[in-house]
Amino acid sequence: MHQVIVSPQHKKYVAVRPGSRGGMQLPREKYVEVRETVSAGSPLPAWFIDATKKVWGLRLDSGSASNTVLVRPETALNYSRATWEINKGCNFACDMCVVWQRPFAGLPMGEKIRLLEMVRDTGVLWFQFTGGEPTIDPDFIESYRTAYDMGMMVEVLTNGSRLDHGPTLETLTDLPPHKVTVSLYGASAETFEALTRTRGAYRRVLRGLRAATAAGLPLELSLIVTEHNAHEVDSMRALADSLTSRTRYSPICLRLTTVTEAHSTSRQPSTSTGKRCSADVPPDTASTTWTRSAAQLCARSDARTPSIS
Ligand code: SF4
Repeated sequence: MHQVIVSPQHKKYVAVRPGSRGGMQLPREKYVEVRETVSAGSPLPAWFIDATKKVWGLRLDSGSASNTVLVRPETALNYSRATWEINKGCNFACDMCVVWQRPFAGLPMGEKIRLLEMVRDTGVLWFQFTGGEPTIDPDFIESYRTAYDMGMMVEVLTNGSRLDHGPTLETLTDLPPHKVTVSLYGASAETFEALTRTRGAYRRVLRGLRAATAAGLPLELSLIVTEHNAHEVDSMRALADSLTSRTRYSPICLRLTTVTEAHSTSRQPSTSTGKRCSADVPPDTASTTWTRSAAQLCARSDARTPSIS
C-alpha cells in the first residue's frame, strides 16, 4: 500500500501522504525522476528518501519504489479537487436543512466506480465524500477504498453518527483519510436533538467521535451555531477541544433569517420558515462539484510544503 503520493497539482508538483497534513513541492524534473523510478521498479532516489524522512519522519525502504510511492500522471484537465454527494439522504433531520427530505439514494456500484475513474482521470488529488450523510451509503466503504487506492487524498464530511461502525472505522484506520470533518450541533443531548430532530443523535455522535479519536483519525470539528444552540457555544467549544485540536466555527447563522445546510457542500440555503433562496440546487440531484484551484492546496490542507530544488 502506498505511503506517499506524488502528483501534478495544477502548475506544480507535490508529494503528499495519506493521513498527514504536511507535504512538499517538487520541480517537474524531480517529479519525472520519481515517476520513472516507480515505473521501472527501481530503488527510490536518496534525495526523496531524505525528504520524506524530514517531512513525515518516514523511513522508506531504499528497495523498490513501486510498493511505497504512487505517482499520479499528468492529465489534460489537471483538476485539483472534487466533492461527491455519494448519497442524497441523511439519517438526521436538522431544523435548518432540507437534505433530510431527500430519499436515501445513490448511484449503483458500477456507476460509482465509473465516476471515480472519471474523477481520477481529470487529475483530482483532493477528494471529499459528502451527502446527505456519506457513511449511510451501502457502498461507502468500497467507494472510499477505491478512491484511496486510486491515489486521492480523501476527506469525509459527516455528521459523525456512524464513525464507530466497525467496518467503517476499520477502513478509515487502515487507509487513513486526509481529514474527517464532523459537524457538531450542540453540547447537550437536549440541544443536539432539538436541532437534529433525531432521538439519540447526541449519544451516537459522541460515541462516533470518541471512536475516531481513539483510532487516531485526523478529526476536525465544525461548530454549527443556530438559534437552538447559541447559548451553548462555550460548552460546544470545550467539548470540541476535548476531542481534537482542530476546531472551527462554521458560518451558519447567529441571526436566524438565513441558515445553510451544514456539512453537505452542495448547499441549499433556506430560511427557517423553509423558503429557498436563489442559490438553491435541485434537492433531488446528487452532485459532483469540481474545483480547479491548486492554490487551495496549502490553505485547505494546512500542508507545509517545503520545496525540493
Ligand atoms: S445538516 Fe447535515 S446532518 Fe443535518 S440533516 Fe442536513 S445533511 Fe444531515
